Amino acid sequence: MRYMKLAGCNVPAIGQGTWYMGEDPARRAAEVAALQHGIELGMNLIDTAEMYAEGGAEEVVGQAIAGRRDQVFLVSKVYPHNASRRGVPAACERSLARLGTDVIDLYLLHWRGQYPLEETVEAFERLREQGKIRRWGVSNFDVDDLIELDRPDCGTNQVLYNPVQRGIEFDLLPWSRQHRLPTMAYCPLAQAGKLLQHPLLHEIAERHGATPAQVCLAWVTREDGVIAIPKAVSPEHVRLNAAAAGLTLTSEDLQAIDRAFPAPTRKQHLAMV
Ligand code: NDP
Repeated sequence: MRYMKLAGCNVPAIGQGTWYMGEDPARRAAEVAALQHGIELGMNLIDTAEMYAEGGAEEVVGQAIAGRRDQVFLVSKVYPHNASRRGVPAACERSLARLGTDVIDLYLLHWRGQYPLEETVEAFERLREQGKIRRWGVSNFDVDDLIELDRPDCGTNQVLYNPVQRGIEFDLLPWSRQHRLPTMAYCPLAQAGKLLQHPLLHEIAERHGATPAQVCLAWVTREDGVIAIPKAVSPEHVRLNAAAAGLTLTSEDLQAIDRAFPAPTRKQHLAMV
């Protein structure tokens, strides 16, 4: 596994997402097992949110990390409609209870909502002082939002990034690098849609004895400062995602990807899912 610095800790370049986990009790055991398998393979950063299955995903994570909390870097997110002075601590308490822990390593504002940023940050800071979170950060923030936030202590910005959704490369990614703000890339596999069928990704994968999904993960994490958080329940997907940390793309591979999926040449509206 390759490691990067995030919120003062060493975290794997490839972690684990949890969206759509916790929705179906019949799949719970497989979801718990997938996260545990991922931790054993070094993907010990887990990303979740109170939104996912309305707390159900956090419960799955809680079950997966029981007895191994110390091995895991835990990221969760507060809904914008809970991001008020009173709402943040209450939401955090509920998340902590579902996660079965007394501290969240990195607590994010899921996207901007109706509450002033200063109010949310003040509530995050209070949680940090109380030891309920170690650091805080944001998600789905564009450059203008980060400038308005104006907080060098923000731990990360979690945004959409994969070979077909490269908008952040025009300005957000360079800005974040310049300000030493780590980026967490969500939907790094473009939710396993058409992208994974693309002939070029198959061709590159074949050259490396890898899969198109592994090529996506190697591409997303090709430079320091970007952490990918693929979600996988299938045991084979979990194994492949962890192994993708050992895949390095050549400059020819990267150029071919640039030709097939060109980098943005002008400002794009920040894409979200
Ligand atoms: P991903 O791009 O991670 O795709 C997930 C899909 O890919 C699943 O269907 C999974 O299948 C499949 N998959 C996983 N590994 C492989 C593999 N090696 N080969 C082929 N298919 C694979 O999409 P997500 O939307 O889940 O994004 C990742 C995470 O990012 C989320 O789970 C969530 O934690 C976070 N997120 C954050 C957002 C935000 O607003 N901050 C928005 C969206 C996501 P299977 O499960 O069957 O193995």
